Amino acid sequence: NGTIFLAGFQTTLLTHLAAEFVHELRNPLAVIKGFVQLSALTQDFYKYQGTILSEIDRMHSLLDSFLKLSKKNIMMQKIPPDKLCSSMIALISSECTMRKVDLDYDVAFSENACNADISMIKQVVLNITRNALEALDGKGEHERHIFFRGSVEDKGYRFAISDNGPGMETCILKKIGQPFFTTKENGTGIGLSLSKKIVAEHHGSFCVSSAVGRGTTISFLLPFVSDS
Ligand code: ADP
Ligand code: MG
Repeated sequence: NGTIFLAGFQTTLLTHLAAEFVHELRNPLAVIKGFVQLSALTQDFYKYQGTILSEIDRMHSLLDSFLKLSKKNIMMQKIPPDKLCSSMIALISSECTMRKVDLDYDVAFSENACNADISMIKQVVLNITRNALEALDGKGEHERHIFFRGSVEDKGYRFAISDNGPGMETCILKKIGQPFFTTKENGTGIGLSLSKKIVAEHHGSFCVSSAVGRGTTISFLLPFVSDS
């Protein structure tokens, strides 16, 4: 029924990620070690416990996301892009409703199909949407907008999510998508780097454009499956 299991897909993704996660866990561990030593030296544990606890929380959320990822079964499926769009819009819409953000969308029909692991691609959409919603946090209730666009291009179908948030300075724009890069106090910096990897595993491409004060559009392209 057009469903293919691709075990290797998961293995390469996990091998790449494992090395990065191990590397990233060293940072909070070093901080915790330093602050425990400092609190022993100064006999003032209360002064440092906040930092120690938040670094432990950070390690927890890093480990959680890695575990969730490793449990997934990868399943590629041939699917019409407008059908993919419908399930994406359902997902984005429920996130937007919860946070009282307006959602509009425009979906182009295509006769071609794409290959996708639907749950992985939904994870990509969720990561992009959550960032967009977080970017809109500072705005008033009827000023927060998200726009979803599905469009046909030469090589494939583009899925784009735009927000009218603060946008990003060029120096930040250059860094986003690098593993663990975050500007948020409680961020992990996993969302976009993982999303880029998932899209790359689909032989697609990832694109970020942003204008300070106007907003951000993050999109990805999934190639069409050739008929042969
Ligand atoms: P996290 O959300 O944990 O910080 P992500 O990988 O999801 O990690 O995002 C990395 C960074 O990219 C964010 O910290 C933020 O600075 C920037 N970013 C992502 N999406 C947007 C957006 N829609 N508007 C503004 N900045 C964004
Ligand atoms: Mg995020």
